[in-house]
Amino acid sequence: MDESRRESLPSDTDPLKKYRDKRNFEITKEPQPSGEASSPGQIFIIQKHSSRRLHYDLRLEVDGVLKSFAVPKGPSMNPRDKRLAIQTEDHPLEYASFQGRIPDGEYGAGTVEIWDRGSYVNMSRKDGKDISLAQALEEGHAAFWLEGEKLSGGFALTRTRQGWLLVKMRDEKADSEGDVLERAEPVL
Ligand code: MN
Repeated sequence: MDESRRESLPSDTDPLKKYRDKRNFEITKEPQPSGEASSPGQIFIIQKHSSRRLHYDLRLEVDGVLKSFAVPKGPSMNPRDKRLAIQTEDHPLEYASFQGRIPDGEYGAGTVEIWDRGSYVNMSRKDGKDISLAQALEEGHAAFWLEGEKLSGGFALTRTRQGWLLVKMRDEKADSEGDVLERAEPVL
């Protein structure tokens, strides 16, 4: 989307308004949305974010932005674990390659590193029919298959009163023994 078109959009239809509003791009090195980023397809990314409280940010590409969820305890490959996931503002596609330090005093101050990345396949269904991931998130239940370097297999995000829950689905990629978070090395 080019700049003039974005300016003409009412703010409530600009999915990245909150992202912009929270940041001072003269201070943070986080990417400014250019409207020109492209992606090979449905990417996902997990950034390990050591801010005031360590958390893992799960981001899924949906309709040209990264839908974002902060997961305080991080993802798990064990289907018994239900991990709270707090939805945060949509991020621009450019954010998928961001890692570095957000300066003290700025929103999200701390270090960001890319913990996992890859592509996903939407598996969301409703009433026996395939639905888009965008619709699934609106409906409060999304299912997707991740092909990452650390995470793989089916995962579900389900909205509850307390927030979203991220749960590994029971499939051949599930692992109830190890702790995937022990694989701390960044992928880049
Ligand atoms: Mn974060």
